[in-house]
Amino acid sequence: MKLPEKGLPEDKIFEALQDFRKNDVKWKDGRVFGYVFDPGAEVQHTAKQAYNEFLSENGLDFTVFQSLQRLEKELAAFGAQHLRGGDQAVGNFTSGGTESIILAVKAARDYYREEWPGVTAPEIILPTTAHAAFYKAAHYLNLKVLQVPVDPQTYQVDPETVWQTITDDTIMLVGSAPTYSQGVIDPIEDLGKIALKTDLWLHVDACMGGFLLPYFKRLGEPVPDFDFSVPGVSSMSMDLHKYAYCPKGASLVMYRDKSLRKHQIFACAEWIGYTIINNAVQSSKSGGPMAAAWAVLNRIGDLGYLEIARKKLEAVKKITAGIPKIKGLRLLAQPQMTLIAFTSDSVNVFHIIDEMNSRGWYIQPALSYDNCPAHIHLSVSASNVGWEDKLLEDLEECTAIAAGMPEGELVTSLRPMLQDLDLSQATDEDINGLLAMAGLEGQGLPDRMAEINGVLNLLPAPARKKILVSFVNDLFVQ
Ligand SMILES: *Cc1c(COP(=O)(O)O)cnc(C)c1O
Repeated sequence: MKLPEKGLPEDKIFEALQDFRKNDVKWKDGRVFGYVFDPGAEVQHTAKQAYNEFLSENGLDFTVFQSLQRLEKELAAFGAQHLRGGDQAVGNFTSGGTESIILAVKAARDYYREEWPGVTAPEIILPTTAHAAFYKAAHYLNLKVLQVPVDPQTYQVDPETVWQTITDDTIMLVGSAPTYSQGVIDPIEDLGKIALKTDLWLHVDACMGGFLLPYFKRLGEPVPDFDFSVPGVSSMSMDLHKYAYCPKGASLVMYRDKSLRKHQIFACAEWIGYTIINNAVQSSKSGGPMAAAWAVLNRIGDLGYLEIARKKLEAVKKITAGIPKIKGLRLLAQPQMTLIAFTSDSVNVFHIIDEMNSRGWYIQPALSYDNCPAHIHLSVSASNVGWEDKLLEDLEECTAIAAGMPEGELVTSLRPMLQDLDLSQATDEDINGLLAMAGLEGQGLPDRMAEINGVLNLLPAPARKKILVSFVNDLFVQ
């Protein structure tokens, strides 16, 4: 892009912006299972109004913008009450689950720097189902990851395995409520007991479930305790831009008490300029997301959310009952919320996904990892309600079509070579050669992704990572 010499009229701007969207996933149709949590036109209207109203206010300084301080405190108070943290729990508003998780990991790291100065190379124990955001946090904050496998049947972490993995340098344990991938809730009470016995920090990642699970419980679902009511839980993350249907840029990070949260806060007084005190990662930030989150929570209200939860629960029950009836498909686990993972032992799931996408659906591919096969993920949200029968019908047809498709030539020919490919010494040129072979050259992505996913699926994780980084590094050039 070049700056126009003179500013463009508004209609030209919006025409261009509209055109940019033409290849985006059509989320308004209700056939996209992820990415956008759409509360419907009425609530969207309120959200956008509130967002616009506070677009220009700056969260950099809550002494200057006291409105934002008030909004953040009210949202955190809601979080404390919703997650049963009592009078002592505190928290902050963040831009998303990743930021909430980075902050909780930083708080834990800095807490133990003070408490246990002898630990100089701290470790975090992560079940293979813990969200990628923890790896990002560990990477940014220089923590070593000790990965533990999950049960191949339930996809929950085994507390005994966690217990066995703890070393003198371990500072943090993680459980999910529920896990993103299979939608199952880790045994939080058992992890809490371990945390209490060992004085370790337990973070419960309730980005998905923190908001919704209490409603599922009220609807009679057997939801185990996963929040601050469980002794030993130090911090939690709860996204508002998922099942609370707030616009993106909205999450809460919560702590059992102020003494833990203290280590999240960053202050800088050693430079020539204004004093910095930041609760979260960002400094200058729009007040829009916070105001919109406050507006949406109040607009939908408790009974409104209960009703949305009821509809989603029914939809999930229909979908999870229907999938195993389709020839060739099976659920990976019985989901405890609204996140569904299924696979096939006989049909290439990446072909099923391409077929479904060509019919206007968006369902998410997940590569195989450790003891979990490649699979298809659905995050069921309000706008998907009503599409269950059509989804199952198309899934059945697409699975049958995919069953007749051969494995791609590339996957077949590369299979023997890829399984233990070591790219640790590979140059950018080597990687580009590989990408070219997989049809990934230059800009953009092909319509059908089965071949690429198939190749990635064969590669060991370090090689996958190297290829993805190289690909994106090339994609984002002008
Ligand atoms: C979405 C999600 C995250 C990360 O949140 P972002 O808002 O995408 O940064 C973390 N944990 C779980 C369980 C999630 O579902």
